[in-house]
Amino acid sequence: MSPTSYPWNLPRRAMLGFGLALAVCSPALQAQATPAQSPPVQAAPVQAVATFSILGDLVRQVGGERVAVTVLVGPGADAHVFRPTPAHARQIGQAQIVFSNGLGYESWLARLLSSVNYRGPHVVLSTGVQPLKAGKKKHGHAHGHDHGDTDPHAWQNVAHVMTYVAHIAQGLCQVDASGCDLYRRNAGSYTAELRALEAEIRASWAEVPAAQRSVITSHDAFGYYGAAYGVRFFAAQGIDTKNAASAQDVARLVRQIRRDNIRALFVENIADPRLIEQIGRETGLRPAGKLFSDSLSGADGPAPNYIAMMRYNTRAMINAIRGP
Ligand SMILES: [Zn+2]
Repeated sequence: MSPTSYPWNLPRRAMLGFGLALAVCSPALQAQATPAQSPPVQAAPVQAVATFSILGDLVRQVGGERVAVTVLVGPGADAHVFRPTPAHARQIGQAQIVFSNGLGYESWLARLLSSVNYRGPHVVLSTGVQPLKAGKKKHGHAHGHDHGDTDPHAWQNVAHVMTYVAHIAQGLCQVDASGCDLYRRNAGSYTAELRALEAEIRASWAEVPAAQRSVITSHDAFGYYGAAYGVRFFAAQGIDTKNAASAQDVARLVRQIRRDNIRALFVENIADPRLIEQIGRETGLRPAGKLFSDSLSGADGPAPNYIAMMRYNTRAMINAIRGP
């Protein structure tokens, strides 16, 4: 079933139309309500938009019940090739705050925001994170990358997500001063969970000899993960799924797999599996399953939230390296 054909789509649309009328007058009200003296008692949840599913989960963790989160690029969908529709523009029109990743990831967002003349806060969550360059040389792409050389997938390093969470709390405090204590508390307890997650990931990899820590994926989404936790990733595609892998890219990967005796071959939830299946046929390797790179799974899948996603990916990679 395509995301546009859910049975609840029609009533929801009708509600969006209703919300739009409210949204027209809200920015002015917001501007008048910001002074800190006596914040109004919150009658309705803060309307927040997050650009993709992973950020949506982080905003929910911090916002709790005070914040209603709308995600533009939902579970299993690919933000690299996303095309906003008028329905997405209406969602922005209703937003009191917008959260994005930045680092060139949501190339479609600036136009979407200006199309509805959005004037509320836009929080770029990767602000302050030390960006990595794309692994262009490693994969020897002969063609240029039109999206720039910055790797946007900073959420694959848990430490960076602690920065994201701090920005989320700050942004929510800005639009809902009376909830600020709650946002700070939620951010604090979630950050403690992230610290535990980070320790768990490091401890898991510590049991794998460094020379064996090599993983093949479809697109180059794990540069930050690799740098943080000491794992080598090789991808057929670059950092952006818009650029197809060439025959040379594939041939080079096949040679690499044979030379280094790499065993962990993965498809991704957002990418076309055929490329990896082809590499599997040429090397005799069976793809070891699916990694969640740029998107969560649905609620009943193995990666319904960020922490579950990082745990699942880590376990899947280590199991594949160890073999049966
Ligand atoms: Zn990506």
